[in-house]
Amino acid sequence: MNKKGIDFYIQAGKRALQWQSEHIANMKKLRFDTIAVHGVYSMQEALDFNQGSIIEPIYMSTSQTYRDSDEMEAALSYQIPTWCYSRIANPSMYYYEGVLALIESYNSGVDASCIGTSSGMAAIQSACDTFLVVDPKKINQKLNFVATCQLYGGTFQQFAVRKHEERNIEWRKVVNSMNIEEWESQIDENTRFLYGELPSNPSQGFFDIKKVAEIAHKYNLPLIIDSTVATPALLRPLEYGADIVVQSVTKSLFTSGFGIAGAVIAKKNITSNIDNDAMKADFCMYLKTLPNRDNGPEISPMHAILALNDIRTIRTRMDVMSKSTMKVAKFLSQHKHIEHVDYLGLENHPLHDIAKKYMFLVDSEHDEMYGEKVNRYGHLMSFIIKGTAQQTRDVFDEFQRIWRATDLGRIKSVATIPAISTHSQQGEEGRKLANIPQTLIRLCVGMEHPDDIIADIDRALKVLDGAKYTKSTPEYSAGGASSALLK
Ligand SMILES: *Cc1c(COP(=O)(O)O)cnc(C)c1O
Repeated sequence: MNKKGIDFYIQAGKRALQWQSEHIANMKKLRFDTIAVHGVYSMQEALDFNQGSIIEPIYMSTSQTYRDSDEMEAALSYQIPTWCYSRIANPSMYYYEGVLALIESYNSGVDASCIGTSSGMAAIQSACDTFLVVDPKKINQKLNFVATCQLYGGTFQQFAVRKHEERNIEWRKVVNSMNIEEWESQIDENTRFLYGELPSNPSQGFFDIKKVAEIAHKYNLPLIIDSTVATPALLRPLEYGADIVVQSVTKSLFTSGFGIAGAVIAKKNITSNIDNDAMKADFCMYLKTLPNRDNGPEISPMHAILALNDIRTIRTRMDVMSKSTMKVAKFLSQHKHIEHVDYLGLENHPLHDIAKKYMFLVDSEHDEMYGEKVNRYGHLMSFIIKGTAQQTRDVFDEFQRIWRATDLGRIKSVATIPAISTHSQQGEEGRKLANIPQTLIRLCVGMEHPDDIIADIDRALKVLDGAKYTKSTPEYSAGGASSALLK
């Protein structure tokens, strides 16, 4: 066999990377929707490598074969673009990561890269734990991180139990995240990062991201933002100074609900007080080739492409869902059985002004329908029932269109009672801190017509007037299987 030599492959790899960076630079000139639809998948690639398939292919393969030992050596020493083994990379993951990096950094003036993860929690763990390493010169260093306490329940557990309790890594809680001095006063030389959720799930906490990013950078620390609830269609934290964004892609981005997925997106050259140049230069590439290679939280190729297929329409969906949520929120605000409605889009919300400063429908100024920048506040809202915990459950149990599920961002409307579901583990005290009473229902409005959702809630609330509804269950499903009742 005619040996080509390792250098042959390295040169070919350089040309490929050059082609790729030109292609990405061209994609970056396009509007958000075009980027979301096409991502980094091109006709050239389709024709040369993927049988002309217009949709990104799912590579359900563990590993890649090499032409010879030289190519293998070049690949496994990361000297050429390669995917080698699906715990590290895979072509389907590549398209997923490519589109997420582009839409998260859209119009932000920064370059970003992305690494896909099997879940949002894995994304949070990957992003945070990379910083939770002790300085080899300081034995017994007790590390800490500063984070808001209005967080998703799973994140609360990861921080409070997995990190704080089990590993003695101190979570310094910011109670009022609008108070910049409170953030600053928690930082010392053992702090590794600042962290917040924008808006938070379910309590819709918000803070001045630019100011918090300034504080982080003043102390040479990165700011990590969980922007799951907003999505890149409504908020792009990298534009406002955040170093890293984590997404539970599972939610609005992967709206059809076929599975769990996550992503870390980081700008190039992040700020950190850790002496690790490769990590700071390209955080996601570092995660991919080292910590996540060793820890193994990668997304499956199947989920990557299923999610990517939903991501194409994120902007339009977030627009419609936001408008519907506003309509539902206004309806509930004047309902006699509702104590309080929490929605960032309502002017009486204490954080409305700060959310208004940052949450815009991307490209609305280029949209025929709007022609200017318009605020959109997403599809997450919550409301408090005037009544007891039991009455709240009674209302909840009557929903017919709204599905009872601990989920969010679904194409179908979903609702949950956080106190008995997502936030049951953190106890009364934790819930008080996060402002989650037992009479609170979290609602995420989907793509149905909003009037039908309003009618569903209105009907359910009538149980508080004494309405009694009886439910019937069919003995056979329409599909023919007998129901459990017959067994
Ligand atoms: C759901 C959620 C997560 C966790 O994501 P998974 O994909 O379920 O692991 C993290 N943050 C927020 C804000 C969430 O809503």
